[in-house]
Amino acid sequence: MWYSVAFTVPAFFLFGLVFGSFTNALIYRLPSKDYTILKPKRSICPSCKHELSWRDNIPLFSYFLLAGKCRYCKTKIPIRYPLVEFLSAFLYALNAFIFPLPEAIALSLVVTGLILTSFIDIEHFMIPDTGVVLVGIGAFFWAFFRGRFPNNLLDALIVTGAMLAFFFISNAIKKDSFGFGDVELLGVMALATGLIGSLYTVMIAAFTALAVYALSSVVNKRKFDRSAQLPFGPFIAVGGYLTILMLKSIEGLYTF
Ligand SMILES: [Zn+2]
Repeated sequence: MWYSVAFTVPAFFLFGLVFGSFTNALIYRLPSKDYTILKPKRSICPSCKHELSWRDNIPLFSYFLLAGKCRYCKTKIPIRYPLVEFLSAFLYALNAFIFPLPEAIALSLVVTGLILTSFIDIEHFMIPDTGVVLVGIGAFFWAFFRGRFPNNLLDALIVTGAMLAFFFISNAIKKDSFGFGDVELLGVMALATGLIGSLYTVMIAAFTALAVYALSSVVNKRKFDRSAQLPFGPFIAVGGYLTILMLKSIEGLYTF
């Protein structure tokens, strides 16, 4: 092979930092009524609206250089900024470590879509279309490079149909119990994970959601509140990404 992991892993880490920084801007701008992706052109402090210089805007490093505060108004910068940048960089590097170049690129697009979707869901309780589209395109190409078509297309249709049925039934029993965005996200993830993989995605998502909510109710010393609104997007993201990493072993269990 003309490229080696010793080169691609650090390169993907740097790309992940840059795209993570861009993802942060989208997490703030997409749900906002005042901003669009292109307006304003330069990054600004959400608190004092001061335009940021390049040295305030270096992924990960600026946060530590500025000691987590805006240079101009001293407002605390949310931990989400360095977190998203690091997560993006780490997962891009992991993709490059595990998969050949074309698949690593496609899966990194999935990662960016999942991070975008998860953090907007956590902050606004909604799944952004932009996130679903990015995950869909990345998942399609990942599966394509792995020679999983046309099988996965049929699988994705079956999963979407099943999730739609579940969506209507659960919402008939209890209103707003399962969001339509969750159906879309599981549907596009299925392009990569296929049928068996989708079952694992849902299973991992449900178990981690349960564990996190049980843990948070212990930590916050409040009663386990079943009516509390919970963003499910981040759990689908964790379940889907882990499933993609383990897909070969998972499907190995079902081939005879
Ligand atoms: Zn500021």
